[in-house]
Amino acid sequence: MSPELSQLIELQELDLDILRITERLAKIPVEREQIENEFNQFAAEFLALKNRYEQTLKDRKQLEADLADTQQKHEKFQQDKMRVNNEKEYTAVLREIDASKKLISSLETETLKRMEEIEQMESELKVQAPAIETKRGEVDTTLASLDREREESLRLSVELENRRRQLCEKLPRSLFSIYDRMSRTKRGQALSEIIDGVCTACRMKVRPKVFSDVRRGDQMITCESCGRILFYRNEPQQSAEMAMSNE
Ligand SMILES: [Zn+2]
Repeated sequence: MSPELSQLIELQELDLDILRITERLAKIPVEREQIENEFNQFAAEFLALKNRYEQTLKDRKQLEADLADTQQKHEKFQQDKMRVNNEKEYTAVLREIDASKKLISSLETETLKRMEEIEQMESELKVQAPAIETKRGEVDTTLASLDREREESLRLSVELENRRRQLCEKLPRSLFSIYDRMSRTKRGQALSEIIDGVCTACRMKVRPKVFSDVRRGDQMITCESCGRILFYRNEPQQSAEMAMSNE
């Protein structure tokens, strides 16, 4: 096989690897989002309960502040009662005392109700929490492994791109142009290996004359059916993978 053809084969392998990694890298964020969505669905009831719990804590705090405020006003009205000058003022202050007393009572009832709700929600949250924590742990492990995969893929991608640049510098310009043009129209596969007398890219049988020319490996021969540059090699392991990546 000519060194140029070997270089083209290596270039195609690099390009297919780069393509595979690029596609994988594009899928990782989608997978991450999917995993988070699944967790949110799983934990929906728990999260809703937690939100309600936090809201109720806020409500109780507000009620307590209102209660303190009303109690203060009530005391002030009580003092006012001692200082009234006439019947009219007396009636008015009594009305204020009565109203604030009623409000205190209703605020106390509301606060108590919230406290009971909080207690109940706390015990429910406590029951549900272990399952949620276990699931969250699993989710975090999966996400961490996706992050590692992403970093590893990025590192590998840089390595492959460097290797590709070195290889392209060595290739004759015209040969690279042919490869590049073909690669763009053939979804990254400009070359095709012949296995069992068949072009692995388009599955067409290669004529015996073409096959023997390709086996000699001293000239650039294209498949009469799909137009890809044909090559043949003796070790078929790697080629099986290439044929598969063409599926
Ligand atoms: Zn073909």
